[in-house]
Amino acid sequence: MLLIPCPNCGPRDETEFHYGGQAHVAYPENPAELTDREWAEYLFYRDNTKGAFAERWLHSTGCRQWFNMLRDTVTYDIQAVYPMGEPRPDKENAATGTTAPTLTSPVSPEGAVK
Ligand SMILES: [Zn+2]
Repeated sequence: MLLIPCPNCGPRDETEFHYGGQAHVAYPENPAELTDREWAEYLFYRDNTKGAFAERWLHSTGCRQWFNMLRDTVTYDIQAVYPMGEPRPDKENAATGTTAPTLTSPVSPEGAVK
């Protein structure tokens, strides 16, 4: 059982949440121009990562807000919780070539994002 740190409510039991799938899947700019295959890939194809994976979660029986969570799919270790629309915290500096910050303790006991 996971103890998920909701950014609004703090740590709560996994049963209060709904999994929303992979985070950062951008809606196509011109969906009408996609082929059936491209559209199907947008709708149904998702990464199957072993290790750090960015996911969407809904605190359905709490604040009813969506948020993103970076979770290790092997160890279930929750590495970061961050708002929808924000870049993935371990890859935000990838474009500039700088080193990504370490994620030793990004989540405080209150569940707030560091
Ligand atoms: Zn909440």
